[in-house]
Amino acid sequence: MGALQTEIERRGERIFDLVDQHPESLFSKAGFYQRMMALSMRDEHFKVQLFRFVDVLASLHRGTDIVQHLDEYFADMRNGYRPLIRTGVLLAKIVPWISGQALRWNVSGMARQFIAGRNPEDVMKTLRKRRAQGIGFTVDLLGEAVVSEQEANEYAMRCLELLEHLARETRGWTDPLGKNTELFPVVNLSVKISALYSQMNPADPDDAIAHLAPKLRPILRRARDLGAFVNFDMEGYAHKNSTLALFKTLLVETEFRDWPHVGIVIQAYLRDAEDDLRDLLEWGRTRGTRFAVRLVKGAYWDFEKIKSRQNGWACPVFLQKPESDLNFESITRILLESESTVTAAFGSHNVRSIAHAQALADELGIDRSRFEFQLLYGMAGPVKRALVEMGYRVREYSPVGELLPGMAYLVRRLLENTSNEGFLRAKFSDNVSESELLRDPSDLVAQGPNGARHVDASGDDASLGTPPGDTYENAPLVNFVYEQNQDRMREALVHARKLLGQKYPLVINGERVWTDKTIASINPSSPDDVVGHVAEAGIPESERAVKAARTAFEKWSRTSFETRCRLLERAADIMQRRRYELSALEVFEVGKAWAEADGDIREAMDFCRFYAHQMRLIGRPRLTQHVLGEESYQHYWPRGVAMIIAPWNFPMAILSGMVTAALVTGNTVIMKPAEQSAVIGAMLMEIFEEAGVPPGVLNYLPGKGSVMGAHLVDHKDVDLIAFTGSREVGLRIWESAGKTREGQRELKRVICEMGGKNAVIIDADADLDEAIVDTIYSAFGYQGQKCSACSRLIILEEIYPRAMERLMNAAASLRVGNPEEPGITVGPVIDGKAHKNILNYIEIGKNESRLAFQRGDVPEKGFFIPPTIFTNVDPKAKIACEEIFGPVLSVIKARDLAEAFEIANSTEFALTAGFFSRSPANIERAKAEIVAGNVYINRSCTGAVVGRHPFGGFKMSGGGTKAGGADYLL
Ligand code: NAD
Repeated sequence: MGALQTEIERRGERIFDLVDQHPESLFSKAGFYQRMMALSMRDEHFKVQLFRFVDVLASLHRGTDIVQHLDEYFADMRNGYRPLIRTGVLLAKIVPWISGQALRWNVSGMARQFIAGRNPEDVMKTLRKRRAQGIGFTVDLLGEAVVSEQEANEYAMRCLELLEHLARETRGWTDPLGKNTELFPVVNLSVKISALYSQMNPADPDDAIAHLAPKLRPILRRARDLGAFVNFDMEGYAHKNSTLALFKTLLVETEFRDWPHVGIVIQAYLRDAEDDLRDLLEWGRTRGTRFAVRLVKGAYWDFEKIKSRQNGWACPVFLQKPESDLNFESITRILLESESTVTAAFGSHNVRSIAHAQALADELGIDRSRFEFQLLYGMAGPVKRALVEMGYRVREYSPVGELLPGMAYLVRRLLENTSNEGFLRAKFSDNVSESELLRDPSDLVAQGPNGARHVDASGDDASLGTPPGDTYENAPLVNFVYEQNQDRMREALVHARKLLGQKYPLVINGERVWTDKTIASINPSSPDDVVGHVAEAGIPESERAVKAARTAFEKWSRTSFETRCRLLERAADIMQRRRYELSALEVFEVGKAWAEADGDIREAMDFCRFYAHQMRLIGRPRLTQHVLGEESYQHYWPRGVAMIIAPWNFPMAILSGMVTAALVTGNTVIMKPAEQSAVIGAMLMEIFEEAGVPPGVLNYLPGKGSVMGAHLVDHKDVDLIAFTGSREVGLRIWESAGKTREGQRELKRVICEMGGKNAVIIDADADLDEAIVDTIYSAFGYQGQKCSACSRLIILEEIYPRAMERLMNAAASLRVGNPEEPGITVGPVIDGKAHKNILNYIEIGKNESRLAFQRGDVPEKGFFIPPTIFTNVDPKAKIACEEIFGPVLSVIKARDLAEAFEIANSTEFALTAGFFSRSPANIERAKAEIVAGNVYINRSCTGAVVGRHPFGGFKMSGGGTKAGGADYLL
């Protein structure tokens, strides 16, 4: 055993001895909290329900509501096996008012365990007590998530007030160790960076810095003048790089360059933590003034894991706990070895990590007064006391805020305390031996299981009984948090700009065909820029294309499905290779923001691969039944020539989806993109040619829908029509295709996906942090031009005032502009016609209802429409019934849920809907009562993922087919 390990053990044992001298359970306060925690550790399901209940409590005002939620959350635990809860719930039901209050009181008590004070005055009591114990503080302001600039400004004000207050109240306080005091100001404020700017977008760190710096400068200045310290806190991975960049930018400004009392956080659970630290140290050396780093393990582990899994991203956090512990130790070493540049704060409750830092500091000859340990308020009291007794510097991280709105923080702490892998639980609750707790994490990493779940995406082991989403792995989204991805997108935009104005021919039977007329596709952000001139197909070219497709059908329909699947997969690979280029083209041609454009390309790749995957499942003839003496098989047969008519709003994804489904099932295709996105259509043709599509199997035929589109819909040799677009056109196609023409062989099959008038409902107990952000995104993301976009918002009366206030402030904070810039949420609408049409609806809205909000600052050039919100909207009003397809939201107040559902279901459409609620019973009602093809609970109502959310509506929204679903190919 090495000398360091021996020393770590010696110190660890000493800490444990001291801890044992003052026995205290993990949960220092007895009673309700202790019982709840003990139960949570024994029963994972109870734990989840308890934390959800704690989370919702702040939004419940009536005793009956509290009791109802209690009943719903714990309903399934009452079958005798949890008598305590059963009795509790029964009693609560008898006297809901009293029990409601009692529960609030008890849960507030839990919150009080972790929240050091309600407000600056209140927190001083705690800080004084700690001072007497030789423990310092850093104060952090709790609150709701910041969704608007108004809320961000309020947070900045609160920080300044808190600073003033702390400085005033701690005048005369001295450093507990009395040594190296110049490194450790008494007043220490931790700032949550994301609370200072509501529009932080990982793709645009420059914008974040441009908005955050002016809010932070006054805080930093005041702190410096008051002799206080400011720490930049770290939250989720999405904002990490921007936070680091902000820190490095601000603190080399002349006025702050020589100020040492600033710090930032490094999270050891991140795989790139060490690189970030080395970078910071390099920066610090160049800056020439000390700064501080708080090393923590990180508090968003579950969130990061889920988020990266959902988006197909490399997981930024270590999957095994000992890996984070080990990384914590490596970083401890780097910090201590760089002591001349950086002041370290070790933020951990883990005695092994603490003992390691102590032993290493000694080995390196660093005095114990030159670094500090930081521990959370309300946790690990005995460890803090032990450290003070050993002569170390201890600072407590002390959150300040109202108890109930601070619930999100409380839940994070509860999770930490009850986590299977948490140190505190192991020591104080599970009584794990000291030697085990002091083991070198590197031993444990080597032994540990690989936490990653392997998903077999090959499809070989899939059967019809396996959920399709489980055997298919979606393409990842581009993660714009990485600078190299931002750079690639910027370069792609520069490159795409150079290609603007090119000419694109039709492709019929593998030949390039030029016509007299062209369609000019323009850039909606800058209508003078022509993205491309596309040859326009007329009737003669349409006839040629049908002929080519019909001829090619003979062979293609007999080509093995495996060959057809491979064609799709090659196309997906080419899209992957050209991904940035295609996204950049979408920014120019249809005005999509970066992430929206990338999402569209991702979806296109998913359609290719998912349909190939599905085809392999259904391609072989299937035995229908085991019967003696006979063998009967069912198999599918291609139909013939497919006419694909696509809209412009998902120009690559929808076009690819419809085209690939037809191709892989053995049909030949005439592909007609929308006029506004014909250049992207030309790119899809190029991709399929490169992938090796045989001549005539896929024909590229841009043209006027009303002319050649209508002609082909009626054509006797077209057997299948897949259409996505407006209701008006869809119904015309549906009707026209129903007529049998002279010489027609087949009954035409029509797949018709049309518009929506989608409603989002916000229930009285909804989490507004989530509901507002997601509703704003659903309504105004891509300028409201998604068929799934929210255009009606139905809010329950009880929560209406607060929800509206936050909603309008959030809309006022959105970034509107040219989507060439990263981080834009609202760009231009597609063309002049749409522009006029939407403005017309806004005028109608002004007569029908109340214009509650409209942005005044949209760019003049380009087809920009100001995000607009109407209130007092009659559910029967035109703006509440007709699809507007722009950034216009109608808000309707509902008395109760029954009325909300009735309003939601009252239009002729049924495409998507959203429901925000924390009541399990109401969620069940929503699932049963909302009539829409895709109903999303507690999430935005846009952004369906192939395989995960099969997409399509009914009523006047579509024929019930589900794109990206298992049965779409049938
Ligand atoms: P649109 O109906 O104007 O055009 C769609 C396509 O139909 C275009 O290619 C157009 O050229 C063609 N077309 C027009 N007239 C035609 C005719 N008479 N015969 C044959 N083809 C004709 O729709 P759009 O403006 O491109 O797209 C927006 C609409 O699409 C919205 O209503 C939106 O809700 C809907 N949409 C629905 C879904 C869905 O999955 N349900 C998805 C995306 C878009």
